[in-house]
Amino acid sequence: MPIIADMHTHTIVSGHAYSTLQENLRAAKERGLLFMATTEHGPAMPQAPHRYYFGNMSVLPREVDGVRLLTGVEANIMNVDGELDLADRYLRKLEYVAVGLHRDCIPPGSQEENTAAILAAIRNPYVDAVVHPGNPAYPIDFLKVLLAAAEAGVLIEINNSSLVRSRAGSTDRCREIARLAAQHGVQVVLGSDAHWSGHVGVLDEAYNMAIDAGIPPENILNLDATRLENFIEQRRRRKQG
Ligand SMILES: [Zn+2]
Ligand SMILES: [Zn+2]
Repeated sequence: MPIIADMHTHTIVSGHAYSTLQENLRAAKERGLLFMATTEHGPAMPQAPHRYYFGNMSVLPREVDGVRLLTGVEANIMNVDGELDLADRYLRKLEYVAVGLHRDCIPPGSQEENTAAILAAIRNPYVDAVVHPGNPAYPIDFLKVLLAAAEAGVLIEINNSSLVRSRAGSTDRCREIARLAAQHGVQVVLGSDAHWSGHVGVLDEAYNMAIDAGIPPENILNLDATRLENFIEQRRRRKQG
């Protein structure tokens, strides 16, 4: 099944990535994608863009050379209360808000604390997805997080980089998440987490893991344009409603 979207990409704007937005879009086009979410790290990450970057994303074209550009962020969960590093007035204007735990923003806690932080973020109505939940640096209760996400209509990411080059020790944990997602009918999203344009749209490992775990294609956001558009529209209404 062809992949039509990459929902997790970074550019030089994040400070530790190496391609521009135009280079990423060109790579997306070359890989045959119809959608690309650009999701820079939130302002609490060192060298990440200022909040004004996120506030100004409406200047970007909706579509570039046939690729629909989704305005997004990979916001940082800052504490066990699930506070994010970008205020609601910025989040509500973005089309795709992913959240995750990162070292410079929240120190790894106990499994209970990490889980509480993610559960609280999932309750934020502006949040659309939880990224790299299999990171071994932040142990969490997978089932609790998956069930809460499903209830809130929040996606659980299978992060391709976690399976290839980042967050060593993620693979078995991601496989367990995929198994639980299949078992409980949880919606997942695939993200390359590209920090280099050559990795945009490279989602093979994540896709294979999802399919091997038995997640039905209709529960993988990246495979159908209409379903993806409906998801974005439904979340937009919820954010701006
Ligand atoms: Zn991340
Ligand atoms: Zn990322």
